Amino acid sequence: MGDIPDRVSQVDCDILVIGGGTAGPMAAYKAKVKNPKARVVLLEKANVKRSGAISMGMDGLNNAVIPGHATPEQYTKEITIANDGICDQAPVYKYAERCFEIIQELDKFGIRFLKDEKGDFDVKKVHHIGTYVLPMPNGDTVKKALYRQLRRAQILISNRYMATRLLTGRDGRIAGAVAVNTRTSEFLVLRAKAVILCLGAAGRLGLPTSGYMFGTYENAANSGDGYAMAYHAGAGLANLECFQINPLIKDYNGPSCAYVAGPFGGYTANNEGMRFIECDYWSGQMMLEFYNELLSGKGPVFLKLDHLANETIGEIESILHRVERPTRGRFHEGRGTDYRHRMIEMHISEIGFCSGHSASGVFVDEFARTTVPGLYAAGDMANVPHNYMLGAFTNGAIAGEHAIDYAAETDLGEFDPEDVAAECRRVLAPTLREDGIPPNQIEYKTRRFVNDYLQPPKVTRKYELATDRFAEIRDDLEHGMVARDPHELMRSLEAASILDCADMAVCASLFRTESRWGLYHYRTDFPERDNDNWLCHTILSKRDGAMVCETRPVAPYIVPIADDERDAYDRQRIGRRA
Ligand SMILES: Cc1cc2nc3c(=O)[nH]c(=O)nc-3n(C[C@H](O)[C@H](O)[C@H](O)COP(=O)(O)OP(=O)(O)OC[C@H]3O[C@@H](n4cnc5c(N)ncnc54)[C@H](O)[C@@H]3O)c2cc1C
Repeated sequence: MGDIPDRVSQVDCDILVIGGGTAGPMAAYKAKVKNPKARVVLLEKANVKRSGAISMGMDGLNNAVIPGHATPEQYTKEITIANDGICDQAPVYKYAERCFEIIQELDKFGIRFLKDEKGDFDVKKVHHIGTYVLPMPNGDTVKKALYRQLRRAQILISNRYMATRLLTGRDGRIAGAVAVNTRTSEFLVLRAKAVILCLGAAGRLGLPTSGYMFGTYENAANSGDGYAMAYHAGAGLANLECFQINPLIKDYNGPSCAYVAGPFGGYTANNEGMRFIECDYWSGQMMLEFYNELLSGKGPVFLKLDHLANETIGEIESILHRVERPTRGRFHEGRGTDYRHRMIEMHISEIGFCSGHSASGVFVDEFARTTVPGLYAAGDMANVPHNYMLGAFTNGAIAGEHAIDYAAETDLGEFDPEDVAAECRRVLAPTLREDGIPPNQIEYKTRRFVNDYLQPPKVTRKYELATDRFAEIRDDLEHGMVARDPHELMRSLEAASILDCADMAVCASLFRTESRWGLYHYRTDFPERDNDNWLCHTILSKRDGAMVCETRPVAPYIVPIADDERDAYDRQRIGRRA
């Protein structure tokens, strides 16, 4: 590899926010607004202007708790039930209490939300029980609006820096992070009193059925670095066996999206055009019914809109083809699929970790604190279940506000310089080889095996085989991978994160010896749900260099769930009609 600057620059700050997608900008903004004198750094692997899951915009808020339409109690109850009871309710309740204020703030930033003729928020019902979906007619402006606020608040933005490892002090407190420039390979050590992880989902874990490595459902820059970094820093990660698997448009690999089309009368149907699930809100049980239908002889599964009026379809197109994914209209045009005449073929996504749509993430409490002092996490990588975009904004805000108070009472932590030196050696190892295996081959092989062995239904024997295959890949990665330029160096680091996530997926899945969350954790060797032994979190962490799992009780509910409500999400299949 060409010249790599041997200089390691260092920056000191009060708060380091890693990941400038959705949660990160809000965390940085709230911290800075609360203490304008503080040094707040926002570090991003891409460019904050257009990074993360909302890079092109977003069609709406999936989970808005708006007074007059829903209460924090109702929302907390719905999410607890949707998540099969495994839910520490305090963070969910706190989100539900705060999110309306965040909507109003986003409104002031210039992001508009759909209102009815009386000027009230026009919230739509998609969930099984309550009403929470709020469309965003100018959702394509969300990133621009956020960026303006970051500039106004004078946040220090470092684009094109990829964080690789966290630094902790001898006392176990967070002390900062190491990052590497994705264009020059220059190292940057960031010392910080508090660090907020907002690195998004582990979206490049499974391989899309299209075979394209970057054609993932999730933002493809989210390669699980946050999960890997939290793990290596000793933080606990919760319920990683609760995979993210989403319904999507086949070959396009984007959302279909029943959340937009549902309120207009669209729905998910089988090849006979019949509805087979009660509710299009995504849950593990819904995905299991989807999967069963695919295998039943009544698949494929489709998004059905062809029964709707031309004007209604026009309205749906004006959202789905313009706001979040402008490529979607072009995809349908190219394929010759018009919603008016044909149902649109859907499929099942590759697996990943994500709490935005599921519940797999770094364990946090209601202040977004992880188990490492001074380390916070928010957004898709923190385990507040089903928290989506508004959850990223709200929990990002909560993290920023708490972290800035924490930073006011603490000094910069002291880390061991040898930790930085060791990280530089790890990062640079693939650059020192003359020849070897390029990172894309390491990544492709890992993700192909993720599909072969980890995609649910989960079979114990397959998971055991995966353990062996991943160990072989790790040997190749550590001793044979080559990086020939800064771009490949970034990819080599991502390949390492992806492999870490694959190992974590195996470890957590084998630990929970029951089935739960529908398809997300359906184990053929333990097909039943076992509430007597497993109505608890699984926490995965690194101890003495090894990956370990343990159980953690679910915190006592603050919103009680009646016995006859507990299984509301289990009854997804539409019964046979006489
Ligand atoms: C296709 C799709 C459609 C969706 N539709 C909706 C919807 O309609 N409504 C809704 O409410 N929610 C929706 N969501 C969910 C919502 O977008 C996410 O929950 C939310 O944006 C997650 O925010 P985040 O900050 O956690 O992650 P992101 O916004 O993805 O940000 C993560 C950031 O971290 C950066 N990063 C990653 N690794 C590193 C590293 N090593 N160093 C530095 N930076 C790094 C990335 O570049 C990225 O900018 C959708 C998600 C997807 C993928």
